[in-house]
Amino acid sequence: MSEQGLCGTCGKSDDCLNTSLGWMCRPCFHTAMKADVKSGQRLYTLPEPGKKVFVVKEPPGTFITFNNILYAFDRKQEADEIAEGLRKAYGIPGAYVQQVDALEPMKYVLDHPSLKLLGIAERVEGKQTAGPGEVEAPAL
Ligand SMILES: [Zn+2]
Repeated sequence: MSEQGLCGTCGKSDDCLNTSLGWMCRPCFHTAMKADVKSGQRLYTLPEPGKKVFVVKEPPGTFITFNNILYAFDRKQEADEIAEGLRKAYGIPGAYVQQVDALEPMKYVLDHPSLKLLGIAERVEGKQTAGPGEVEAPAL
């Protein structure tokens, strides 16, 4: 575990995330998310105590994931956009947004070894366009 705020991968101290693999800056984290994580290594961000996030679910309360990634949004706006897209374009009419404790999606991911968890603080301009079966990848 590296020093707080210092990326353990590239050594930069720029806005690092507290992850299951230690402190990691956002560029390194997203590179690692895209790469094949070696078996036994689970990559996810560790939530701050008491933090609430917005997740997208479908009845009766199942998390909706995209390409084996479960997104947890800091803001309701981004989660609402994803849920609306799912209802309109992807044939999931029951998709809905729920505010939960940040530990809930993390525990779910830990229970499902194929899944990764990605926290989304805020979607910025320049986002990618989603293809069939995909969700727009929020650029951080
Ligand atoms: Zn880094």
